[in-house]
Amino acid sequence: MSDLRFKSVEEASSRKAVKVELPKERVDKYYAEKVFNRQKMFEYLPRTTYEALVKAIDNKKPLSREVADSVADGMKRWAVEQGARHYTHWFQPMTGGTAEKHDAFIEHDGKGGVIETFSGKLLVQQEPDASSFPNGGIRNTFEARGYSAWDISSPAFIVGNTLCIPTIFISYTGESLDYKTPLLRALNAVDKSATRVAQFFDPSVRHVECYLGWEQEYFLVDEALYAARPDLVLTGRTLMGHESAKNQQLEDHYFGAIPSRVEAFMLDLEIECHRLGIPAKTRHNEVAPNQFELAPVFEEANLANDHNLLLMSVMNEVARRHNFRVLLHEKPFAGINGSGKHNNWSLGTDTGKQLFSPGKTPEDNLEFIVFVSNVMAAVHKDNALLKASIMTATNAHRLGANEAPPAIISMFLGSQLNQILDSIEKNETDSIILGGKEGMRLDVSQIPDLLIDNTDRNRTSPFAFTGNRFEYRAVGSSANCASALIALNAAVAVELSEFADRVEKRLENGENLERVLFDEARANIIKSRAIQFDGNGYSDEWKKEAARRGLDTESSAPLMFDKYLSPSSVEMFKKSGIFTEKELEARNEVKWDMYSKKLQIESRVLGDLAINHIIPAAVTYQRLLLDNVYKIKQLFDDGTARKIGGQDLVSIENIAYHMSEIKALVERMISARHVANRMQSEREKAISYHDCVAPLLEEIRTHIDALELMVDNEIWPLPKYRELLFIR
Ligand code: ADP
Ligand code: MG
Repeated sequence: MSDLRFKSVEEASSRKAVKVELPKERVDKYYAEKVFNRQKMFEYLPRTTYEALVKAIDNKKPLSREVADSVADGMKRWAVEQGARHYTHWFQPMTGGTAEKHDAFIEHDGKGGVIETFSGKLLVQQEPDASSFPNGGIRNTFEARGYSAWDISSPAFIVGNTLCIPTIFISYTGESLDYKTPLLRALNAVDKSATRVAQFFDPSVRHVECYLGWEQEYFLVDEALYAARPDLVLTGRTLMGHESAKNQQLEDHYFGAIPSRVEAFMLDLEIECHRLGIPAKTRHNEVAPNQFELAPVFEEANLANDHNLLLMSVMNEVARRHNFRVLLHEKPFAGINGSGKHNNWSLGTDTGKQLFSPGKTPEDNLEFIVFVSNVMAAVHKDNALLKASIMTATNAHRLGANEAPPAIISMFLGSQLNQILDSIEKNETDSIILGGKEGMRLDVSQIPDLLIDNTDRNRTSPFAFTGNRFEYRAVGSSANCASALIALNAAVAVELSEFADRVEKRLENGENLERVLFDEARANIIKSRAIQFDGNGYSDEWKKEAARRGLDTESSAPLMFDKYLSPSSVEMFKKSGIFTEKELEARNEVKWDMYSKKLQIESRVLGDLAINHIIPAAVTYQRLLLDNVYKIKQLFDDGTARKIGGQDLVSIENIAYHMSEIKALVERMISARHVANRMQSEREKAISYHDCVAPLLEEIRTHIDALELMVDNEIWPLPKYRELLFIR
């Protein structure tokens, strides 16, 4: 066995669970202890500052300089007491993940020393060097510098010794350079238009809040094995590796007990989450071996998304304490399930109503139908854009690849809701009785009982109704959920606002409110029924059927990104005030660029591994075989030699065949890269990587995986799937 592999397997299998120090107090005592939440604000800020800050947060208004100074002072005092010595503006660049630039709480005191200080100016605004973050040419088009500004709706928190201040990141001319800015704009848009529609039912509604409950899937790998796999280290996924004889076919992992090493990690992670105010609640094994999930209680979407991003970085830290590495890549291993991040999405009013929950009265149910029908219409109209919003070079391996759902957005509604929509569509007024209301009869009062039964699940659907919310499942495990939430909320916001326009117009003509609401909801249902698909999303028939229905079936990621720039999308984002056309163009440049770079890295790593690791191992084994055949020939007559050494000769030839294929393919891949790299347009470059480089990665892998089965196990240089995938 190769040295490195031998040592890492040895090391990995000898590990025991790391002991986790349990907090002495109850969870409610340490929950959010590292967060500058309202309770801390109340404690550390002067009364007037506290009131001004809370008012600004509630009304989404900026802070005055005096208030900011006073907040900064109190926040610093709290942070220093907690052991913090630095602060950072914490923002969400378009590259994904989060970015930080740390500064110490010190200034010159003018006497050769320093004083500990933190001003309102530094709290509220900073100028990180925008040039080091991708901005898709925005800086050339607009203004050279960008700045980050505190998002007061998301509380500051402490990680390690650093006070982190959640911020938006924008150019000096106001273009967003991050995910948070457009997310806040999208949430604002959906608030406005959903409020308009909710007011048809209850005029006292002032705001509609968007909620997100994410479910984070991930893989764990022992750190020693990880270190022995350069592809995992550099690309986050295995670029080669033959399937393990046993993987998920027995389906024993999902219901199986959590291994003790993993359980210790999960416990540690949960405690860390709770200290940071992330309401982690559910943990379990997932379908694939070594695959797990963590889900919190849902929260307001902007905060929930911050928490998800924070979780992803905390996970990495905690995993290291347990000698694990977390793989957040959507498809770290071929042949077994990939990881997603289901986005449970819902809307609720400030009067406490969940808009996707059927209620107890016919009016409530009409409202439910109105909102659901608008989501259907939005998802139908913008299915291509929604798909673009979840697409990345890494998620492309999960969607539309071999054993995953296809790259088609459809909606699962379940048989009960389906029946209701059927009868609304058919306008079966005889069977539809609306409690006592004149003119219109709709027996939607039966909905609550029916929908309480939530066993009607379809795991293959990318977008499913699950009783009181929608579950957007196509989102990738490594993604910033904001991308999906921006597109979804924008589409729904525009749909709802057009709905409200139509209704208001008809009301001006003196029509009956409920009649109009029912009619318009029905019209939505009729026009968007094509998006509904309750069958098996994995089947080939569905691909054909979806195309027939006019749903977007594009499977190339770089081409999907075009949808952001289609006239209807540009119009939609403009109307909802989320992106200007310039911003969309710039962001697409970043998407294409990121796509090409990811593939370029994968292709280089695979080329190196193939030539420097795999071929030498194959040659070594081939030499052993040759030696054997040669000696047989020396000792035996021709006939006997052929009999004894015949199989080895076949192997020698097979190995030679795969090696020469690998070499030739690597050469071709390098040339394909050169062609792609010379392209001026980011879009063309990404298309070229998708069409000409990506297929070669797959081809090379096939030959390497074939060699893995032939070459002596002792010689094989990289940890195999069966070693990587089973934590003892
Ligand atoms: P499952 O795996 O069956 O989908 P989980 O319990 O793993 O269920 O995850 C459900 C997720 O949905 C949790 O994050 C939960 O907080 C969230 N959720 C529940 N109700 C809502 C809602 N109304 N809006 C948004 N998210 C919700
Ligand atoms: Mg789920």
